Amino acid sequence: MDRYDVIVVGGSFAGLSAAMQLARARRRLLLVDAGRPRNRFARTSHGFLGQDGVPPAGIMREGLTQLARYPTVDFVHADAMSAATDDDGVVVALPEGVEVRARKLILAMGVTDELPLDSMTPRWGVSVLHCPYCHGYEVRDRRLAVIANVPGAAHQAVLLPDWGPTTFFTQGLFEPSGEEAALLAARGVKIERTPVVELLGEGAGIQALRLADGRQVSAEVVFTAPKTRVASPLAEQLGCIFTEGMTGPYIEVDPMQQTSVRGVFAAGDAASAMYNATLASAAGVMAGVAAHRALVLDEAAQS
Ligand SMILES: Cc1cc2nc3c(=O)[nH]c(=O)nc-3n(C[C@H](O)[C@H](O)[C@H](O)COP(=O)(O)OP(=O)(O)OC[C@H]3O[C@@H](n4cnc5c(N)ncnc54)[C@H](O)[C@@H]3O)c2cc1C
Repeated sequence: MDRYDVIVVGGSFAGLSAAMQLARARRRLLLVDAGRPRNRFARTSHGFLGQDGVPPAGIMREGLTQLARYPTVDFVHADAMSAATDDDGVVVALPEGVEVRARKLILAMGVTDELPLDSMTPRWGVSVLHCPYCHGYEVRDRRLAVIANVPGAAHQAVLLPDWGPTTFFTQGLFEPSGEEAALLAARGVKIERTPVVELLGEGAGIQALRLADGRQVSAEVVFTAPKTRVASPLAEQLGCIFTEGMTGPYIEVDPMQQTSVRGVFAAGDAASAMYNATLASAAGVMAGVAAHRALVLDEAAQS
């Protein structure tokens, strides 16, 4: 069986950034990526320095092209099916019975989003958004709605008036606290307690929101925080400890991106409660450097 220094599972912002550090350290590494980055539904990506307004696939293509210049990197376009550790490191199973082995593993698998309403699905990343810093500027001055889906949703509604006139839909479930209600009032945010049951509009656009009592409320753009889950079960299989975040569980890591399982590192959305391409990339850099350091220390201890 082929043995790498490091296997990186997930080849997007976090995984490519981790792989770049290891490639530049001249380590043998395998990048396994299924090709479903979280932001693939958006037409353009924003706020990533030097890449503002570039389509997500364009950023990934350039990252892969640059990584491919390093001779110690192998790529597999596939889902890693399972992972396990033993005294020798880690074994990752790929489709068709292929197994690959490495001394260290970096999990950069991202998360998947569970949208609260079916009518959000065809609009996700276009007129249904999760992050004002990513796409708020592009929808500035439109009629904005925040549809609460997790505790703390009122905080998003407090921010949004910087981009446009905002209504906060509590869905009858996420009533703002007294402090939040005062902030919403100070920011000029309207509050609606009757649940939104459907988004109405042509194609990926929104013209109005249909409420449970039959009323239609005018809106053009919806912000919501989908529930999330780590995109693959590898971390559970390995026995990694998880932490509960605002939208779902994520892999617990220390400041060096080391998980609770020795030799297994994690980075990006799968190991953070704060979802952002730049932060995922930065965590990936740290995971790559930390995995390299762990290899060096192991080798020094054995010599
Ligand atoms: C619609 C939308 C738009 C966004 N726009 C922006 C924006 O403009 N700016 C910004 O900063 N942030 C944006 N974000 C957030 C950003 O997409 C994430 O923070 C970022 O993609 C996280 O990077 P990551 O590398 O951790 O995970 P991802 O980008 O999700 O990549 C994970 C990769 O791992 C792969 N993978 C998963 N499991 C396996 C497995 N078992 N085997 C092999 N491969 C696997 C996936 O297929 C995927 O390619 C947006 C998010 C969404 C939902």
